[in-house]
Amino acid sequence: MIYPWLTEFKQPIETAYGINKLHHGILLGGQAGVGKAQFAQDIAQSILCNASSNQLQTCGQCKSCQLQKAGTHPDKLVIGQDNKTISVDEIRKVAQFVQSSAGQNANKVVIIHNAELMTIAAQNALLKTLEEPNAHRYLFLVSNEPMRLSATIRSRCLCYNLVINQPEQVTNWLANSSLIAQPWHILFAHQPLLLLNWHEQGDLNQLDSLYSSIECLHAQIDLKLVDEILKQNPKHINVFCIFLFAIIKKYLLNKKIMFNTYQECMKLLAHFENSRKTILGLNVTLATNRLIFSLQAQLNN
Ligand SMILES: [Zn+2]
Repeated sequence: MIYPWLTEFKQPIETAYGINKLHHGILLGGQAGVGKAQFAQDIAQSILCNASSNQLQTCGQCKSCQLQKAGTHPDKLVIGQDNKTISVDEIRKVAQFVQSSAGQNANKVVIIHNAELMTIAAQNALLKTLEEPNAHRYLFLVSNEPMRLSATIRSRCLCYNLVINQPEQVTNWLANSSLIAQPWHILFAHQPLLLLNWHEQGDLNQLDSLYSSIECLHAQIDLKLVDEILKQNPKHINVFCIFLFAIIKKYLLNKKIMFNTYQECMKLLAHFENSRKTILGLNVTLATNRLIFSLQAQLNN
């Protein structure tokens, strides 16, 4: 199933496939949580389905579809799912894979998730495969940060930037899930799968608490609770920063602060984010407390 907000991107791919002109290298870029990985999987499944003719559909019944369900399709290679650096050896396996013959319907598909994690050597190795395409071989590169890929790789691919052009499709889709809407969800309206993922992992209540505890940033906030949540779930620090950015922006839009105060706050936040990424073993509790106090000093200045 392709998410409703991404069906418009399937159409040109399907049309090209229907007339046997689908590009052999397709780069799917876009924000985390927009649905790129699922999109690539769906297109791959259709390309491999034995019942698929010139339309990209899956029957779910044929041997190929069954093999895919079992995760053992010999004509499909998926790499990069573990979020680790992708080595040149892995890309050499991709080259061997596309050169060998297909077992099912003549097509073979490779999906490279987190493609920006390819090393320079890996990217150079992939170039050779992209520059000497084999018929009926399709490579899908999936990336949150496609600009980190070399310009040459990008120029050899047909690039799609998967974005949500019709936000109401997301709103409807979320309304049909069991997720209870909260005001801060709007911050992730363009990354709906992040919300769903947090929901499924039981993180959503904690994020609700995190937002509530810092919503009145200029007044008193529950620092102890913030500390507890971030200690339990350090990966939420990113979300914590997004919350702070949004809350401070709201102060500016509601004319509660002047633009220069806003700028000072943004500097503090940028400094916090930068230290977090660059200082190993940073005492997050201390840094978070310091950030909050500095922001409050600015806001109440
Ligand atoms: Zn099938």
